[in-house]
Amino acid sequence: MQGMVEGGVRERDASGSPLSTAFGGPPPRAGEDLRGSLTANGSLADFIWFRTGGPAEWLVRPADIEDLAGLLKGLNPSTPVLPVGVGSNLIVRDGGVPGVVVRLPKAMAKVSVQDGCVRAGAGAMGITVASAARDAGIAGLEFLRGIPGTVGGAVRMNAGAYGRDVSDILVEATVVTRDGSVEVWPAEKLGFTYRHSDLPAGAVVVEAVFSGTPGDPAVIGAEMDRIAAEREASQPLRSRTGGSTFKNPEGHKAWALIDAAGCRGLTRGDAQVSEKHCNFLLNLGSASSAEIEALGEEVRDRVKAHSGVTLEWEIQRVGEHASPARLREGAGGGPALSTSDAAGDGGRPPLGPLPHAGGEA
Ligand SMILES: Cc1cc2nc3c(=O)[nH]c(=O)nc-3n(C[C@H](O)[C@H](O)[C@H](O)COP(=O)(O)OP(=O)(O)OC[C@H]3O[C@@H](n4cnc5c(N)ncnc54)[C@H](O)[C@@H]3O)c2cc1C
Repeated sequence: MQGMVEGGVRERDASGSPLSTAFGGPPPRAGEDLRGSLTANGSLADFIWFRTGGPAEWLVRPADIEDLAGLLKGLNPSTPVLPVGVGSNLIVRDGGVPGVVVRLPKAMAKVSVQDGCVRAGAGAMGITVASAARDAGIAGLEFLRGIPGTVGGAVRMNAGAYGRDVSDILVEATVVTRDGSVEVWPAEKLGFTYRHSDLPAGAVVVEAVFSGTPGDPAVIGAEMDRIAAEREASQPLRSRTGGSTFKNPEGHKAWALIDAAGCRGLTRGDAQVSEKHCNFLLNLGSASSAEIEALGEEVRDRVKAHSGVTLEWEIQRVGEHASPARLREGAGGGPALSTSDAAGDGGRPPLGPLPHAGGEA
């Protein structure tokens, strides 16, 4: 896949004008600036969980860490860079994402165990990390079994469940900074708080080392199975969703506030507040990102009016809003899901197994 360029025809708005470019200088050149792949107007809706939203101006899949570092070093400093995992906590707005979107390839999703720690490429899925820890008799990483995102997304979001989060298990992360430096950051440098890290904009996590405590693989495996079963019972895992929409406010559960405000099942177009877990929003089929985001804002308004609590978005909302003309033309709906999506690299079938970033097992 040396220096592959795909696409190339710039998207145009309703008036026929090309969308503005986010590059302060020339865009990257495949083969010269990058050994991996480079796609103009690269679809994000093809693989993110909601299956909605506009394209990346340039979607980059670097070959390896050095390739990514070289690309970022050469980019005009004003060019925005957005790393994405599998989009299990993302609303990509219908106007698309300006600049460079980085999606890590399978080659950057390797997981190994060294000195009682799990070392994972940032494209690896949480379930793979939890499974490797189980096989090596390392306890404490079981909660990653229930988080359907990549290691990079988990570090960025300080993902967590069942009273634990990434800050409890991360030893260090390798980060390619926006200027192309490759740095190893101890966990403390990431400034973790609830569902938040201080990772600067444009910095890409490329590897992470996790630690736990010695444990019995059978016991660890049983806990992972328990987590999987509990998730299956309580969350809309086989839907187009973005996970928990809002953070739990201090002393409250977001879902309970949403329920009390009468929002369970609320719809806007094809966007719906899940009946099964009302802190989850769903794309029932042809929702636009604008409809999903507007529904979320309506939920916030209703909760504020009902309980006085202001909900804070947990889902990351990225990119630009589409012009109303483009929305009317259906530009925001994203591609329809089909069964063939199930075979896609990183794709998620509507009814089937969890997604695999970079095709990782
Ligand atoms: C059914 C379901 C259940 C969920 N349950 C939980 C849960 O229990 N607990 C929980 O915390 N979350 C949960 N989530 C949310 C989500 O899975 C996590 O936030 C996950 O960590 C996001 O990973 P991702 O790879 O999909 O990241 P994305 O959604 O692609 O991105 C999320 C953020 O991380 C950034 N990012 C992604 N990759 C990188 C990288 N390599 N370097 C730097 N930044 C990066 C993105 O820029 C973005 O800001 C759930 C989601 C779903 C759909």
